[in-house]
Amino acid sequence: MSASNNIEKVVIIGSGPAGWTAALYAARANLSPLVYPGRAVSKDLVPGGQLMLTTDVENYPGFPEGINGQEMMDLFFKQAMRFDTRVVTNDGVATEVSAGLYSQFQGAHSIDLSKRPFAIKGDDGYDCLAHSVIVSTGAKANWLGLENELRLAQSGGGVSACAVCDGALPVFRDKVLAVVGGGDSAVEEATYLTKFASKVYMIHRRDKLRASKIMADRALENPKLEVLWNKGVVDVLGDESITAVKLKDTVTGEESTVELSGLFLAIGHTPASDFLNGQLELDAKKYIKLADPYRSTTSVEGIFAAGDCVDSVYRQAVTAAGMGCKAAIDAERWLADQGIE
Ligand code: NAP
Repeated sequence: MSASNNIEKVVIIGSGPAGWTAALYAARANLSPLVYPGRAVSKDLVPGGQLMLTTDVENYPGFPEGINGQEMMDLFFKQAMRFDTRVVTNDGVATEVSAGLYSQFQGAHSIDLSKRPFAIKGDDGYDCLAHSVIVSTGAKANWLGLENELRLAQSGGGVSACAVCDGALPVFRDKVLAVVGGGDSAVEEATYLTKFASKVYMIHRRDKLRASKIMADRALENPKLEVLWNKGVVDVLGDESITAVKLKDTVTGEESTVELSGLFLAIGHTPASDFLNGQLELDAKKYIKLADPYRSTTSVEGIFAAGDCVDSVYRQAVTAAGMGCKAAIDAERWLADQGIE
């Protein structure tokens, strides 16, 4: 695969709401951004990010009827491509939207930040040099890894890793639901679900919550919420939609089945920051540290970061898009300061 001899002004790595928004802004600033969107090969690295695993998105402003997550990312992509955005594919660089392009998308395999311009290696051999880079690689929700869990999550069968994204859907109204995990996310998501569900179980593998005391106490007082202590999910039952989970007691080993209509995983997220190979400052949980919390600057000048790879708190499409916008504006101003226009 050939490589670009030009030095790119802005390279964007990742193609969720943050990446495409950064591309849109950078393209409209005449920076002709080059995007490594990621490969369409696995659940982990899916281009378009976590929204590609969501069915209906009802909380993104501007879509009063809601929109399918994949359709929404398709619209983000096309809007960025309407201006001068270029995308790295297995066949080189695409400048126009065409049928089947998604399956050709290429990701960034590694990046060398030790010298300028920065050197980026593509997954399938398309390499380039860049004056500035926007990292928007996202964070993937952790899953238990059970076959039926992943199958029903991908088919929209009532298994999700985001209660805030999916919990308010009509299919979950007045139903028995469950959240797996015992951290702040699990408590927050279980509490949120009690607004719609008839009952919410929290399934936790220990006899003590990890969540902050104030949030845990509030959840434990909620009459619609019941914690199933010392329980692990060992199977998810249901053909087209989830009907029950099979649990195993982590102390006694005893197995039981709980009937329900929705399962929400809240067992943490893993930011996609490994490919940076320690060259950018990360926090203890591997999220990219921003040099200034109000900007998108990082520990290396010329490298900007946006979206879920810097955000362990909000993790929403709308917040990621906002950060993508900030990163493109920061990159544009930094390039102008360097005399690169
Ligand atoms: P977290 O604090 O890492 O908690 C993950 C939970 O999932 C833990 O209870 C853990 O069990 C459980 N878990 C992990 N792997 C599991 C597995 N394979 N099987 C079953 N259970 C598993 O993650 P988080 O709740 O997403 O929170 C991430 C960060 O964001 C935290 O710093 C949190 O305080 C913060 N946060 C804050 C708020 C807020 O303040 N409003 C809201 C959400 C998140 P163990 O307890 O046994 O390890």
